[in-house]
Amino acid sequence: MAKIFCIANQKGGVGKTTTAVNLAAGLAGHHQRVLLVDLDPQGNATMGSGIEKADLSASVYQVLIGLASVKESAQRCESSGFDVLPANRDLAGAEIELVELEARELRLKEALATVANDYDFILIDCPPALSLLTLNGLCAANGVIVPMQCEYFALEGLSDLVNTIKRVHANLNPDLQIIGLLRVMFDARMTLQQQVSDQLIEHFGDKVFKTIIPRNVRLAEAPSYGLPGVAFDKSSRGAKSYLDFGAEMVERIKQM
Ligand code: ADP
Ligand code: MG
Repeated sequence: MAKIFCIANQKGGVGKTTTAVNLAAGLAGHHQRVLLVDLDPQGNATMGSGIEKADLSASVYQVLIGLASVKESAQRCESSGFDVLPANRDLAGAEIELVELEARELRLKEALATVANDYDFILIDCPPALSLLTLNGLCAANGVIVPMQCEYFALEGLSDLVNTIKRVHANLNPDLQIIGLLRVMFDARMTLQQQVSDQLIEHFGDKVFKTIIPRNVRLAEAPSYGLPGVAFDKSSRGAKSYLDFGAEMVERIKQM
């Protein structure tokens, strides 16, 4: 049975999509069967996996409103060996259409149940808002991976997300927990980042992943080639860190 993880943080530009795409590639690199679900209407994870979002015959939007199955909508990221349930602008409308539907927050969970035996990991790249789409992600997941930059307001920004996760845990998905906080775009030369990192460990203990993702330009360049950073430049520090993170996640799920 697949373990399902949301990559979530209500802030934009914190490295959710980079983490989702490269963790998918990193896990595939460790022989895991992975489905990456793009739950953001921007479709960045789709494009970053080398799938053209403009000409999708079916996407996560059709899956959520019940017009297509996950199996018939998923595509292969050929460069890195994982599957993608893609997204594009259509998904922006789903928010409104979903409101009308029964069990509107459980649509993704129900859809993913049909492929749970085909994968070891299902990763969900969430949009930068605590919206009905994100709620669908949180209801479907066993856990949340929170990428964050070690900046001054990082801890403060976390409290909304932590409260949302607590509410979903209490009311909708008793399975849900924060699996871990992932330090991304990390620059060890900056004293402030080191200090915030120390604070994080003080507050969250072993909920902070051991792997640290450095700021690495190769990770930022890769999407414009339609490649995960892990496939774009295997020898880069960024690629190696996401391969390490894949290994850490493989270990982590053994304890779940
Ligand atoms: P989000 O999905 O949270 O909005 P993204 O993953 O799209 O965030 O990242 C925001 C920007 O930061 C993108 O331009 C991305 O290429 C860049 N980026 C993400 N992680 C790194 C990293 N480790 N090193 C350098 N640039 C990064
Ligand atoms: Mg994103």
